Amino acid sequence: MKNSVNSLDPSLIEEFASQLRGDIVQPSDTDYNETRKVYNGMIDKRPGLFAMCVDVADVMASVNFGRDNNLLVAIRGGGHNGGGLGLCNDGLVIDLSGIKFVRVDTSDSTVRVGGGNLWGEVDHATHPFGLAVPAGIISTTGVGGLTLGGGVGHLSRKHGLTIDNLLEADMVLADGSFVTVNKDQNSDLFWAIRGGGGNFGVVTSFKFQAHPVKNVFGGPTLWPIEQTEEIMEWYHEFLHNAPDELNGFIATMVIPGPPFPEHLHKKQFCAIIWCYSGDMNKAEEAFKPVLAKNPLFAHVGEMPYPAIQSLFDGLLPHGFQWYWRADFFNEIGAELRKQHLKFGSKIPSLLSQMHMYPISGAASRVGPEETPWAYRDAKYAGVICGVDPDPKNADKITEWCKAYWEALHPYSSGGAYSNFMMDDEGQERVKASYKHNYDRLAKIKGKYDADNFFSVNQNIKPSK
Ligand SMILES: Cc1cc2nc3c(=O)[nH]c(=O)nc-3n(C[C@H](O)[C@H](O)[C@H](O)COP(=O)(O)OP(=O)(O)OC[C@H]3O[C@@H](n4cnc5c(N)ncnc54)[C@H](O)[C@@H]3O)c2cc1C
Repeated sequence: MKNSVNSLDPSLIEEFASQLRGDIVQPSDTDYNETRKVYNGMIDKRPGLFAMCVDVADVMASVNFGRDNNLLVAIRGGGHNGGGLGLCNDGLVIDLSGIKFVRVDTSDSTVRVGGGNLWGEVDHATHPFGLAVPAGIISTTGVGGLTLGGGVGHLSRKHGLTIDNLLEADMVLADGSFVTVNKDQNSDLFWAIRGGGGNFGVVTSFKFQAHPVKNVFGGPTLWPIEQTEEIMEWYHEFLHNAPDELNGFIATMVIPGPPFPEHLHKKQFCAIIWCYSGDMNKAEEAFKPVLAKNPLFAHVGEMPYPAIQSLFDGLLPHGFQWYWRADFFNEIGAELRKQHLKFGSKIPSLLSQMHMYPISGAASRVGPEETPWAYRDAKYAGVICGVDPDPKNADKITEWCKAYWEALHPYSSGGAYSNFMMDDEGQERVKASYKHNYDRLAKIKGKYDADNFFSVNQNIKPSK
């Protein structure tokens, strides 16, 4: 049983605040309600105290304060987690948004990033050097959570998951100590954080391998929802045999409005969002088979990598209601395609959608035990998101999302990508998402965090 921050003697909090360079925020502060907001407007957690850390010393003091006072502790990176795992009720939030820096080293194309950075900030800093670190598909997502869970996105087929490009991290552990982890130092921890989430400590900086990616050729192609089964069947055959440079995630979605042309508005589609990161002179050739499938709408072209990374930021601002469900899939067989058509045809709001991100090319060439990310042999990380600005529609989007997931789940590979899960799915689902790697993760957790101090995450229970 954890203590509530409320039960602490105020002098203890005062003393803690005096150890920090960053601020603290408490429920009595005028900025408390603003501070407790996260990306998902459905999350309404009320932490007892925020430590707005600006450096590693602040993080160490916060970990020590949380542990010594037996508080529930959450770590907030970018605050994008669907289940709101960057916050906790009554406890202490170690907020990393003040730990931001990006240093690009052109001598070896590596990038050092703060534990609280967002991906758009990293893209902005690397782009002038013609470099990019593989991340996701939305620039407002936090580097911390996305990386520690795995990181699937536009560059996965060419350059692997984000964790496949992680070279080193600095961390504060549950005992308050500071360690650097890489393939030679604390290699067990380095293995564990490449997919094991925030279970092992607070990462204060990441070092990534970047790649020469300046401009990409991409954008959406849309087919009427009635063609879903045909397009999915073609896509599965085409994409996994295409060159690694070509990435495209497939979706069922509604076109909500501008910037898309009016005749598409409020209609349902089977969509593929492409990103070709090879030689721009060969891009049009690579797209010929796609255009031969006669999409109703195609808006593909050359653009800077940061542009494709932020293409959907405007449509999906902070504060909307989000409900998530996910699974990995090895294929999109006939039964599955039927279900996609069925549920894609009754999307309950303009922004609700289903995405399947391909895991092939470089992402599939990493062994299933090389990192905790166990589903290297799956072909897709699938996710269904019920999304709407209006809290009154929360039940409607949640029900659709759950029903869609239940229809697909029997055809799935068993587990889900941990970053696409809510916080109410139970321990068996966490185990399923790590499969054969769970026991090894649990042992490392037992070694570094035997008391499960870092528990606000897709939690790995410590074992001996
Ligand atoms: C709109 C949207 C688009 C997305 N697109 C993609 C995508 O394309 N690809 C993809 O892989 N994922 C994607 N995600 C999922 C995303 O990876 C997760 O939501 C992830 O948890 C977000 O990380 P964060 O730091 O913003 O989250 P937070 O809510 O801050 O944290 C999430 C979890 O990570 C832990 N954590 C965060 N930072 C640190 C740190 N520095 N040290 C230790 N623990 C930390 C937290 O404790 C918490 O358990 C998307 C999410 C959203 C909302």
